[in-house]
Amino acid sequence: MLISENGRSKCQIVIANKAGRQVRYAASQLQQFLFEIGSCRIPVIEATAEDENRVWENSIILFEDQNLGPEEFCLQTKDNNQLFISGGLPRGVVYGVFTLLEDYLGCKWFSSRVSRIPKREIIELPAISERQKPAFEYREPYMRDAFDPAWCLRNRMNSNKSFIPSDYGGHMRWYNFHHSFYQLINEKDYFDEHPEYFSMVNGKRVRERSQFCLTNPDVVRICTEKVLERIRENPECTVFSVGQNDWGNYCQCDNCKAIDEAEGSQSGTVINFVNQIAEEVEKRYPDKLIHTFAYRYTRKAPRSVRPRRNVIVRLCTIECCFSHPLEECGEHNGDNLFLRDLKEWSAITDRLYIWDYVTNFSHYLLPFPNLNVLEANIKLFHRYGVKGVLEQGNFSFGGGGEMNELRAYVLAKLLWNPDYGARRAIDEFLDGYFGGAAQPIGEWLKLVHDAAAPYHARIYDGPDAPYYSDELIRKGFELFDRAINLVSNEEERARVEIARLPVRYLAICRMSPDDPARSVLIDKFADDVRAAGITELWERKRLEPTIEYLKNNWLDRKREIPRWSYYM
Ligand SMILES: [Zn+2]
Ligand SMILES: [Zn+2]
Repeated sequence: MLISENGRSKCQIVIANKAGRQVRYAASQLQQFLFEIGSCRIPVIEATAEDENRVWENSIILFEDQNLGPEEFCLQTKDNNQLFISGGLPRGVVYGVFTLLEDYLGCKWFSSRVSRIPKREIIELPAISERQKPAFEYREPYMRDAFDPAWCLRNRMNSNKSFIPSDYGGHMRWYNFHHSFYQLINEKDYFDEHPEYFSMVNGKRVRERSQFCLTNPDVVRICTEKVLERIRENPECTVFSVGQNDWGNYCQCDNCKAIDEAEGSQSGTVINFVNQIAEEVEKRYPDKLIHTFAYRYTRKAPRSVRPRRNVIVRLCTIECCFSHPLEECGEHNGDNLFLRDLKEWSAITDRLYIWDYVTNFSHYLLPFPNLNVLEANIKLFHRYGVKGVLEQGNFSFGGGGEMNELRAYVLAKLLWNPDYGARRAIDEFLDGYFGGAAQPIGEWLKLVHDAAAPYHARIYDGPDAPYYSDELIRKGFELFDRAINLVSNEEERARVEIARLPVRYLAICRMSPDDPARSVLIDKFADDVRAAGITELWERKRLEPTIEYLKNNWLDRKREIPRWSYYM
């Protein structure tokens, strides 16, 4: 099917004159990118009721189809002169258009700032017949660059953090996303009068860093009222969090303890508690969902209580090893137990989500050897019926971090379709993002992963982890010197320089504090970090004190330095 030739339009885009916003936005995006590819403006025609029986030849016809799922679409050509793009509400048609542009016309959106829109004198389409929907209902590469709404939409991610306007198809919006107990009942307002609302630990009600006494009926009542109020006030949100705080100290009073012992896990009281809230929510808001965590002390599934149908359980991989696929890691303390937990939760809920980790959080710039596990783990989640996946990377305001843009791209491909091929996605990204420098950078990544293969890697490893070595650093500098010589423009050079920061960071961290060159190297490194817009090297820690601390300390793990005020 011919779309345009030497800047002259050979077809038209047809939508109904009563088409909704999704179809109008999809048509405008299709028109815009076809213009960028072929330097040709394809007209958009609005069909009226009188056109009902008309056959639109040489046309791309966009319409909503209620029989398709909310993110499902069909691309169907007919007689070499018609292409139908149909999709469900609210995002199917938009996704259909971006899939056409990506899979059939070669457009790629690698990061929020780097894309490839090929130029063509002739735009032609082959015969197409396909229907697609995502492997997961919720897909979020949780790193700063990937919050960009246009990037998310074009890569078919519906991230909470993307804030995609509803006119463009919207996204899956959560009201509070994280640990939320203290937002429901705060110890400052309640503890003095009602210490019994909070955890009993070693015979005492705990005020600081506490959880709730989950079997206290007043706690259930107050939290239910708060959640209902939030649902009323935030109709645009789908999911409301009732999640344990990010520390231990669960309640050990007799009532809570009895349930947890019978259930074989602290998730017993949590699911019991969340179910009561979810039951009230369901009566008034049957489409809204309540989210809770299976995290640290609640990671193991309960024996008998079952999450209600409107409860999302989000199982977290925080303790796991990330250099080996979850199913293959031979380590027994934690990782095999994670598989047990995945299986157990998967057997008792249809709304199992995963919160996964894809960056070193102690050192955002350390090379993180997890690229070989992404595909295997996402396939594993899919096989166990997981419905949503968040992949947490560097979410700080300045973003950056080691290869976060690469990871976001690869994850987007795999979360839509776990069979896409991580290798294919990595190669696409390296070529598109680093141009001529792709080969040595790919070699660098391979070296890092080969070095880590014999070891378990965790998200809080330090620069003294056994998989880093002086030899690795030496080869890294060599490869990046080669990479810099292969770039073809200033943008590529800047990207390669940012990709080299992790080697420099690793080298500096491992240098002896007595080496007089160390301080000078840190200053130069810090200048380049600031120039790259990076705001954190260590999760939540302020940049300038971090740099000072680096200068004066060596391989230190305590690192008591100020947090950014926005995390407080
Ligand atoms: Zn209790
Ligand atoms: Zn391992």
